[in-house]
Amino acid sequence: MKCFACQAEIQDYSTVCPKCGEDPRANPYEAPTAGRTRPVTNPNEGDATGGIIPYKNPKALIAYYLGIFSGFPVIGFFLAVPAFVLGIMGLRDRNRNPAIKGSIHAGIGIGCGAIFTLVWGAAIIAIIIGMVTDARR
Ligand SMILES: [Zn+2]
Repeated sequence: MKCFACQAEIQDYSTVCPKCGEDPRANPYEAPTAGRTRPVTNPNEGDATGGIIPYKNPKALIAYYLGIFSGFPVIGFFLAVPAFVLGIMGLRDRNRNPAIKGSIHAGIGIGCGAIFTLVWGAAIIAIIIGMVTDARR
């Protein structure tokens, strides 16, 4: 088979191209094969999004959605920390097996999770300080 990323001829079972380090079976960017008929190397893995959504990395995917919803008031407070933790787990899985992808989704989960953990943490501290200040009055 040919690597989608660098066009090098490589072993069929490779999940990581020895020449360029990319996933040779699924290049989400399509650029190197643009204008040509893209060969169907594995019909069972056909996914309509071109590999953008990391179906094989559920931790990264869940982290991504938890990260987004962690910005919502009240429920976000319960989602921010799991988003952060799952994001790190998803990123670890992805580093072990780059073919499952998900580093972008995991990164968004980690980023949003971390930010909203701080935001909600600060909000809770502000509420506690407010209650203490009210009690003194
Ligand atoms: Zn390659």
